[in-house]
Amino acid sequence: MEPIKFYSTNLIADEVTFSEALLKGIAPDKGLYMPKEIPVFTKEEISSFSQKEYYEIAFEVARKFLVGQINDNELLALVKDAYNYPVPLEKVVENKYVMRLDQGPTASFKDFAARMMGRLMQYYIKKKKRKLLILTATSGDTGSAIANAFYDLDNIKVLVLFPDNEVTDRQRKQMTTLGKNIQIISIKGKFDDCQALVKEAFADSDLDYLDLSSANSINIGRLIPQIVYYFYSFSRLRKENDDVIFSVPSGNFGDMMGGVFAKHMGLPIKKFIISVNENDEFTSFLNTGNYSKIEPSKNCLSSAMNVGHPSNLSRLVALYDGIMNEKGEISQVPDMVKMRNDIYSISISDKETKETIKESYDSHKLLLEPHGSVGWKGLMEYCKEYNVDKDQLCISLETAHPAKFPAQIVEILKFDPELPASLEGLETKEEFFDNLDNNYSDFKDYLINNYK
Ligand SMILES: *Cc1c(COP(=O)(O)O)cnc(C)c1O
Repeated sequence: MEPIKFYSTNLIADEVTFSEALLKGIAPDKGLYMPKEIPVFTKEEISSFSQKEYYEIAFEVARKFLVGQINDNELLALVKDAYNYPVPLEKVVENKYVMRLDQGPTASFKDFAARMMGRLMQYYIKKKKRKLLILTATSGDTGSAIANAFYDLDNIKVLVLFPDNEVTDRQRKQMTTLGKNIQIISIKGKFDDCQALVKEAFADSDLDYLDLSSANSINIGRLIPQIVYYFYSFSRLRKENDDVIFSVPSGNFGDMMGGVFAKHMGLPIKKFIISVNENDEFTSFLNTGNYSKIEPSKNCLSSAMNVGHPSNLSRLVALYDGIMNEKGEISQVPDMVKMRNDIYSISISDKETKETIKESYDSHKLLLEPHGSVGWKGLMEYCKEYNVDKDQLCISLETAHPAKFPAQIVEILKFDPELPASLEGLETKEEFFDNLDNNYSDFKDYLINNYK
């Protein structure tokens, strides 16, 4: 079979194979890579997943996109190594579940993507005898997941930028205590500023010699792993002829895009609920058809979702036959009717986020952190508004471990959530990071001076 080609959402750059898209990250025309065709599973294949382990489902999903790009044994070994932790599905009430994507080494769902992407990148740069400098902006969890996934890998260095006041102590320490090939900068600004600095560096031809690559949610190598847990959870919870509603707490829309791919691959997803915090640019877009970014983005409790312009939105628009460039300008309107048919979106305030943490714990002993709370509240509101049958299978994603947000949990629930093993011992480790102003020329000098 011919390898699947990947095109840029800006439609100017050449089409590339998976390994090129993975190593480049962003296309030369600043667009995002998308598969030209989305492979499909048969009903029988989807049924067979209930007999497979998580990593075996990851293998089946990745294999469809990577035909001719990696051999089966190597791919299987790679996913087996990446997914060595559980994916709990917690029954909450009726047929409604929370999927906990927080058991990886940095206790956020970002581990799912980072661990597979890191291993794939390592595989291809070894083959191509190359070096890479991974440049990534983080609102908290991406940076630590990437830093941990790439820690101590040969020929790959990682530089993470984080907004100085928007990450928790624990999130910061998960990145800054590593050392070796991992370097961290605190930027006096917001997540969107960090993202803008990274994007400018990618577009700067003076820096070509650095072999920059991105590991942000814009990398196609992160989206493919994020398809897997949609198939996995369905395979574990389905009964005859079930379809499923997913609620996805969303920021840059990488997580949700994984789900949308899963739907296009044949998973019977009845509806996506895109639950966002007070940064409601997508909710308004879906309702009105008019898109305007939120600049600057609002600071909400669910800090990893403080995004005023989701970087994966141009991919969603592309899947619905529209064109949106990297600035968020739409030159071809997507099929909004079809999009509304598949997707519902709701904005959840900080007040509701806190109330939901309290209520869900009090009523169901369901322990949520702010991101998962936005997801769960979105599901509750949708079910109420549309009178969803109590037997309908619904799965809400919990994207981080509550122990990553101890201050908020203590304030709301009056107890300190137990630390998962992966987060123990962080407090006493030494931190290393640099501080920079939100200024491109300073950042460029830093890159030139630190990486020769
Ligand atoms: C990154 C992140 C999100 C948002 O995911 P996107 O793919 O950017 O939409 C939600 N919750 C947590 C805990 C995160 O780290």
